Amino acid sequence: MAEGFAESTTLAEKDKPLILIVDDSPTIRMSLKRAVQGEFQSLEAEDGEAAWKLLLTEADIELLITDLTMPHLDGFGLIQRLRENHAARMQNLPVIVVTGADDTAARERAFHAGANDFLTKDSDRIELLARLRAHLKLAQTIRQLEASQRELRAQANTDPLTGLANRRFFDEIAGKELSLMRRQQDYFSVLMIDIDHFKAVNDTYGHPAGDEILKRVAATLSANLREEDTVARIGGEEFVVCSPATNRLASIVLAERLRKAVESLSIEFDGKRIPVTISLGIALRPLDGDDLQALLSVADERLYRAKQDGRNRFCVADKASHSDGELAVDRICPRMDEALAMIRHGNLHRLKPHLPTLLQELIPLLELVNQQSAETQVDIGQIREIAEKLEN
Ligand code: GH3
Ligand code: MG
Ligand code: MG
Repeated sequence: MAEGFAESTTLAEKDKPLILIVDDSPTIRMSLKRAVQGEFQSLEAEDGEAAWKLLLTEADIELLITDLTMPHLDGFGLIQRLRENHAARMQNLPVIVVTGADDTAARERAFHAGANDFLTKDSDRIELLARLRAHLKLAQTIRQLEASQRELRAQANTDPLTGLANRRFFDEIAGKELSLMRRQQDYFSVLMIDIDHFKAVNDTYGHPAGDEILKRVAATLSANLREEDTVARIGGEEFVVCSPATNRLASIVLAERLRKAVESLSIEFDGKRIPVTISLGIALRPLDGDDLQALLSVADERLYRAKQDGRNRFCVADKASHSDGELAVDRICPRMDEALAMIRHGNLHRLKPHLPTLLQELIPLLELVNQQSAETQVDIGQIREIAEKLEN
C-alpha cells in the first residue's frame, strides 16, 4: 500500500469508525492499518475464523477489509458466513476485498459471495480511503433509512395519545390470532370497552384532564393483560382487547379484572378524585361468531347492553350484564367443557354450586344414550331428582 499521505482529519480516536482488517500476513495488516489510521480505528485478525469471533463480540465494527487466501476460513468463506447470518448487522456489513490475486475468477467469486468491493494490494491509499468512505456512507444511509422506516411503521400502528395499537394494527393482529385459534379450534375472546360518562368528565374537568384519564386507562388495561393479548384504542374513549385461547369463564375473569382495575384508579384533579369506570361487552369465538367483524359487532351490542343496565359492568350474554365483582364471576355457570377443565385443575369449590344446572344440561345427552341401547337405560328420573336435591 503506497504511503506518504498526511493525516487529514481531526476526529477524536473514539469517534472514528471501527474497521476490521483480516489478512494472514502481519506485514499486510500493518500496512493497511497505517493506511487507514488517520480516519479509522482498526482491529486485526489473521484468518476468517479469528475475524468471525471478533465480529460476534465487537458490535461496533462498521466495515470489513479482507484478504481472500487464508488458512482455517478463507475470505470467500468469511463473506458467505456473514451474508448467511440472520442478523441484519452481519448481512449488511460492507466488505472490501483487498487481495494480491487479481484474477477475474476470484473477483467474480468474491462478488458472488457478497463482497461489496474489490481492490488489489497495490492499489494506492487514496483509492482505498475513498472506497472506505463511500461504503461507510452508504451503509450509514441504509441504517438511517431503515430506522426511519421502522419509526414510520410504528407510528402508523400506534395511537399517539396513549401509545396503544390503533384500529388498523388491531385488525391486523387480531385477524392473525383469530385465524390461528380457528385452526387450533380454540377460543378467542373480544372485549369492547368504553369509558362511562366521559363527556361529563371532559365537560367538568376539561379536555386535558380527559386526555390524562385516557392515558391512565390505557396503561391500566395494558398492565392487566397477558403477553399474548392485544389492546387498542379504536375511538375517542373506546378500546378493544382480543385475547386468544381464552374461554368464556376466563374472559369473564379478565373483564372483571379490567373493570375493577379502572374503578380502583385514583386520578386526582385539583385535589379531587375523579371517579372513572368502564363498561365492557364480551364476544367469543366460536360461540358468538367466527370472524372478527362478527365478534366485534356482538361485543359492541353487549357493550351497549352493559351501558343500558347501568354502566361499570360487563355483559357476556344477551340476557344480563354483571357488575358485582367476583361474585358475578362465581354466579355464572360454566359450560360443560369449562366444567371439565375446572375438574382437571382441581377447581372444585367454584364448580359445586353449578352441579344441578350442569346435571340438567346433561339430560338431553343421556336421553340420546337411552335411545341408542335398549338393554341398559340411564334412570333419567333419578338424575332429575339428584339435581333437584343438590339445588336445595
Ligand atoms: P357513555 O357512558 O354512554 O359512554 O357516555 P359518554 O359520555 O362516555 O359517551 P359519548 O360517546 O357521548 O362521549 C364520548 C366523549 O369522549 C365525547 C368527547 O368529549 C370525549 N372524547 C372523545 N375523544 C376524546 C379525546 O381524545 N380526548 C378527550 N379528552 N376526550 C375525548
Ligand atoms: Mg363513553
Ligand atoms: Mg363512546
